Amino acid sequence: MKKTLSAGVIRTDLPMADGRTIRYYDTHNQERSAVDQRPREDQPSIGELRLDPLLNEWVAMAAHRQGRVFLPPKELCPLCPTHDQLMSEIPDSDYDVVIFDNRSPSLRPPIGEWEMSETFAPGNLNIESPIVPSAGKCEVVCYTSDHDKSFYELSDSQVRTVMEAWRDRTRELSQEKYIAHIFPFENRGEEVGVTLNHPHGQIYAYSFVPPRAEKMLAVADAHKKRTGRVLMDDIVAREIRDEVRIVARNSEWISYVPYASRYPFEIHIAPLRPVADLAELDDRAADAYPSIAKETFKRLDGVFGIKMAYIAAWHQAPVRVGRDSLRLHLQICSVRRQPGKLKYLAGSESAMGAFIMDMKPEQSAQQLREVSL
Ligand SMILES: [Zn+2]
Repeated sequence: MKKTLSAGVIRTDLPMADGRTIRYYDTHNQERSAVDQRPREDQPSIGELRLDPLLNEWVAMAAHRQGRVFLPPKELCPLCPTHDQLMSEIPDSDYDVVIFDNRSPSLRPPIGEWEMSETFAPGNLNIESPIVPSAGKCEVVCYTSDHDKSFYELSDSQVRTVMEAWRDRTRELSQEKYIAHIFPFENRGEEVGVTLNHPHGQIYAYSFVPPRAEKMLAVADAHKKRTGRVLMDDIVAREIRDEVRIVARNSEWISYVPYASRYPFEIHIAPLRPVADLAELDDRAADAYPSIAKETFKRLDGVFGIKMAYIAAWHQAPVRVGRDSLRLHLQICSVRRQPGKLKYLAGSESAMGAFIMDMKPEQSAQQLREVSL
């Protein structure tokens, strides 16, 4: 299957040996037909969702994930293109950007007709809730075929292709009845649990609204009821007014350290013309994303002159609720405080969810701005 997207990106879908799908996002009219030559392997069966009644929050049980590949050397990297010595996850010998179904997914598409369980209804708490299949989808997003590149070292057009792939996946996954929330993210660095060093991100599409999004929605709804305004719009307006926490800006995007950041280096990137999710971004905003994203990530690595470990998380409105209350933004959190020191989520943060910050957000914004590019 071939599909033409914005910015000259063409998507080609091909089946993988075990029935998964790989999607190539190309910009040079490449013909994709390489066949996955690996032996067939059985797909793990779907896991289960359990409701933690103490918090009324879902926990996905994914016991089959224990056997995953852990930090293989470059020559055995499953995200590099296939070469003489290794048949990787990508059957072709090169690629621009690819997204394929995760081999060890925590969430899987349900078999047969999907019905939203009654137990998913907010406030409908039953501690003897029946076992719920952990429905959803997990995909891997390879940003480049170059194993050693960082995100900000990619060309503008490469980042634009990644953005197009995110928009495309958000649009398509939103159509699935069993998907309630779509979360594209990147973990970078062994400090935050990365098991593969190749530059890549992931997409988790949940069959429920995850706890943090649910809480953000409740707060945003209350703000809207009280003021008639969208909370995130007020927050961005405040950051623009205060100015001191701004890290970078262009015609379509702003990047800032939030007023009450939880991590020594936490940065949010938000579109200046607000939208609910990546699918709603127009081409003008998508075209302006590479410059602000590359500058922001480059400043982050520049602070200590080392590769910063981070989690970059796209917050989007859920697929079917809160579309007018929540706004798209990227949250980048780095756990590094100083070159040799990490911030650990210890007692107060882990057990109580109460964060203690060792550094003022204004100070970290200044450090980020002072990095020479
Ligand atoms: Zn690689």
